[in-house]
Amino acid sequence: MLKDTLKHQGLRNQLVNTLAKKGITDAKVLKAISKIPRHLFMDSGFENFAYQDKAFPIAANQTISQPYTVAFQTQKLEVKANQSILEIGTGSGYQTAVLISLKSKVYTVERQKELFKKTSLFLPKLGYRPKAMRFSDGYLGLPDFAPFDGIIVTAGAPVIPKPLLSQLKIGGRLIIPVGTDVQVMTLVIRRGEKDFEKHIFGDFKFVPLLEDKN
Ligand code: SAH
Repeated sequence: MLKDTLKHQGLRNQLVNTLAKKGITDAKVLKAISKIPRHLFMDSGFENFAYQDKAFPIAANQTISQPYTVAFQTQKLEVKANQSILEIGTGSGYQTAVLISLKSKVYTVERQKELFKKTSLFLPKLGYRPKAMRFSDGYLGLPDFAPFDGIIVTAGAPVIPKPLLSQLKIGGRLIIPVGTDVQVMTLVIRRGEKDFEKHIFGDFKFVPLLEDKN
């Protein structure tokens, strides 16, 4: 049952206030979060907690990212309408929905079959249509649709995968949490063919970006 109520809307407004207090300033990102029914992206056991600013378990031992993390990463991408954005780690599809709400063309990749199947069916039911959803290894990016204006990685990467850098347009932005135990949020802006500018932000905690399929 895909039900969204006034009560959920009220909780979303509170969540948006929380995110604004924590430093999220991009009005478009906050608006997207105020509209998207996060509770529908979660297992029913966690529904009541959907508007807390926390990560929660989803299928296949994965997590739906904390709203602050989603907002932070999205804000750093500086998404504009019609840009093509690659997401690594579709998971629940919540981050995907945020990117689609910003009117970008979203390509998303997931390596867990169960999640891939579930989310590919679920997103269109809510009216969110990525340009492509692929069951594949995010370490390789998505060469068929490259180059991208933005790439967002939603799992912790031990290193920055080279293919992601080469699939960025000049001027394109990659936001990726780098590290094993904890991750340093890293923004890479491609300034030229071989010129990559790097910015680092605080520590975050993600499930790992896994290399070999299981
Ligand atoms: N954006 C998601 C976050 C899910 S957690 C959400 O908000 O729900 C990270 C996701 O990355 C998991 O679903 C995990 O299966 C996926 N993942 C991990 N390693 C991957 C890889 N190498 N390629 C693609 N996806 C990967």
